[in-house]
Amino acid sequence: VSSIDLMIRGATIVTMNADRQVIEDGVILVSDDTIAGVLPAGQVPADQSAKRVIQADGLVAIPGLINAHSHLAMTLFRGFVEDLDLQDWLARVWKYELSALNAESVGAGSRLALAEMIRGGVTCAHDMYWHYEATMQVADEIGFRLISGPPITNIGGLEFNGMVAQARKTLESIQAYRYVIPIIQAQSTYTTDRRMMNTVLELKQAFDVPFTTHASENRAEVEQVKAQHGMTPIELLNSYHLLDSRTILAHCVHLRDDEIDLLKETGTNVAHCPESNLKLGSGIARVADMLAAGVNVCLGTDGAASNNDLNMLGEMRTAALLQKGAHQDPKLLTTLQALEMATINGAKAYGMDHLVGSLEADKKADIVLLDFRKLHLIPRHDVYAHLVYSANKADVDTVIIDGRVQLDAGRLTAFDEEALMAKVGSIGGGFH
Ligand SMILES: [Zn+2]
Repeated sequence: VSSIDLMIRGATIVTMNADRQVIEDGVILVSDDTIAGVLPAGQVPADQSAKRVIQADGLVAIPGLINAHSHLAMTLFRGFVEDLDLQDWLARVWKYELSALNAESVGAGSRLALAEMIRGGVTCAHDMYWHYEATMQVADEIGFRLISGPPITNIGGLEFNGMVAQARKTLESIQAYRYVIPIIQAQSTYTTDRRMMNTVLELKQAFDVPFTTHASENRAEVEQVKAQHGMTPIELLNSYHLLDSRTILAHCVHLRDDEIDLLKETGTNVAHCPESNLKLGSGIARVADMLAAGVNVCLGTDGAASNNDLNMLGEMRTAALLQKGAHQDPKLLTTLQALEMATINGAKAYGMDHLVGSLEADKKADIVLLDFRKLHLIPRHDVYAHLVYSANKADVDTVIIDGRVQLDAGRLTAFDEEALMAKVGSIGGGFH
């Protein structure tokens, strides 16, 4: 193969391709932003040249992790609101978000989130937040895949027509961002009404983008929506014609059997956020039941104010342990399923599985190398077990996004970490 920019040689490659193939002593060839080949070392010509070679013996290559639900600049509120349920937590967070945030602080909080996620092997993340264009600009500047778009909500009595005009304007010009995957969002069914959701549907169709919202996160939310609308959040979204294969619902903790069936029938995707659900005392989502029913479930950290980190390796572990413990059945949520949720399922949910989510020729070069030459990763009987249960963020050695090396043997290439920590620390220090 000619014109190879990067060759990764000697790694164990966890491809997550359709056959879930694992290649020992493998080679990944990258040409510009694209994977040119994933194959056993024996099939690569001895004289294969590349502009750069990463010798990766003892390292494990996985597809870049996809954080399917988050609020990036919530890093600013990390550790700020503790030991409250969803409703009290939201009331306190919204008060500060509406009064204290601006494009500059959101940009700084987002930059910190991206640095944190890249260090944890995340190459693509969803974002729903205020001053969302500031986050898009930062992601584009860094070269990080960001799933984002305007959120519709009545929080703080925001003026609706102005919000919709701004949403249209953003969606019309969003192609200018190379690294932003556009979506339309609504905060929830309890902060929107039918008119607002009709507009969301209109924008979803007009711009042909996926839609995401929070749904059925805790018991009180379901009861509140039932009292307001006579329907559960899932039923209400269905009545808005917003359940389909291009919809991603975050949380879905409290679902009836028939609601799981409805998600399956409509092809609706679910973004599971186990640590946030635990921390806010929201409950444990019926992930095993959803997977058994054939619902596409992906994985997210939610914001750093309710997690309190953006660690997808930890999130996989929590997701797997929770289903086993909650159901008293160790067969539920296998290590392979946990990794699927953090990679290919997230790509499918957002309609990106032709581009990312697995290591295969012709996909984008979003590649993570973990250093398995560690005490806690020896011996290696089962690479999936180590990825889900033993590996941690400090084992992430190299991260490549779109063919660009963002973490190079432990060094972030696009960030000044000291300056970033100082800035975010001083902004956060202003919240009381
Ligand atoms: Zn959320």
